[in-house]
Amino acid sequence: MPMEKVIQVENLVRRYGSLVAVNGVSFEVDRGEVFGILGPNGAGKTTILETIEGLQRPTSGRTLVLGMETYKEPLKVKARIGVQLQASAYFDYLTLTEILELFGRLYPQRIPARHLLEQTGLAEKANATVSKLSGGQKQRFTIAAALVNDPEVVFLDEPTTGLDPQARRQLWEFIQQIHREGRTVILTTHFMEEAELLCQRVAILDKGKIVALDTPAHLVRNLPAPYEIKLLAEGPLPAHELEALDGVVATYKGEDGFHFLKCTDTSQTLPALLRWAESRSVRFQQLQVVPATLEDVFLTLTGNQLRD
Ligand code: ATP
Repeated sequence: MPMEKVIQVENLVRRYGSLVAVNGVSFEVDRGEVFGILGPNGAGKTTILETIEGLQRPTSGRTLVLGMETYKEPLKVKARIGVQLQASAYFDYLTLTEILELFGRLYPQRIPARHLLEQTGLAEKANATVSKLSGGQKQRFTIAAALVNDPEVVFLDEPTTGLDPQARRQLWEFIQQIHREGRTVILTTHFMEEAELLCQRVAILDKGKIVALDTPAHLVRNLPAPYEIKLLAEGPLPAHELEALDGVVATYKGEDGFHFLKCTDTSQTLPALLRWAESRSVRFQQLQVVPATLEDVFLTLTGNQLRD
C-alpha cells in the first residue's frame, strides 16, 4: 500500500519584495515520519513551515496538509495540526494548567492538561506561571501547548535552539515519544546532530532551495568521502604515499599534528594502511575512523558551514 502523504509542498515560492526567501521548493512527508528541514540562518525554513501551517501566503505554488490545501481550507487544517513557533508569548498571570485548559477550549478534541504536563515532565509546575520555568522547561511547555488538540501533524520550529546540552537531550527524547505515538513531525533545525538523530528524512535547504533530500545515512554515504581516518604517528607520513593507498580520495594535515585520510571505503583503506605502515616500520600512536556527518554533506554541497 502506498504511504499516505500527510504534507505536500508543490513548487513553493515566497517573495518578500525583491527578496526570494523560498525559491521553488517541493517535497512530501509520509504519515508517521519525522521530517527535518536543515539549513543555516535565513535559508527559508521558517517561511516554508509557516506557509504549510497557513500563517503565510505562498507567492506561488501550493501546500497541502492531509490532502487539504492550506490556503483554501485554513481552519480545517489548523484543527488537525499542532504548531510550536520560534517565539511564543503566553498569559503572564495564568498557571500552566490554566493556559492549556484555555487553549484546549478552542478545539472540539483535546488532551487533558494534566496528561500533557505529565508527558512533558512538567507535572510539578502545573500551578506555576511560565515566568517561573527554566529555558528547557519553557521549550517543553511550548510543545505541550502545541499538542493540546491531539494533532496528527506537529510542526516544531527550531525546538532546541538556545538550550543547554542536557535540556536539548530531554527534548529529543520527548520528540521521539511524540513520534512513537504515531504523529507526523516536521521540524526545522540548524543542528545537524539533531537532524541525524531524530529525522527519518532530511531536506537540506540553502538560499531558499532544497540542495539534497534523503535519509541522513544515504546523504552521508553518497559523499565522495564518507569516512576520514585520523592518524598520529611517530615517524614522517609522506602525503604522496598515503594518497596512493586504496580508497583514499585526499589527505591533509591538522594543526595538532594529526594526519587525515579522506576515503571512500574503510574496509579497503584500513588494511592497505596497516600493510604500508608495516613495510615502512611506522608506528601509529593513534588511529581513529571518523564517519562524515550532515555538516560535511552541507559543506560539500554548498561550500559553506551550516552555522555561522
Ligand atoms: P532562521 O534559522 O534564522 O530562523 P530561516 O531559515 O527560518 O532562518 P526564514 O525566517 O524563513 O529563514 O527567512 C528567509 C529569508 O526571508 C531571510 O532572508 C529573511 O530575512 C527573509 N524574511 C523572512 N520573513 C520576512 C518578512 N516578513 N519580511 C521580509 N523578509 C523576510
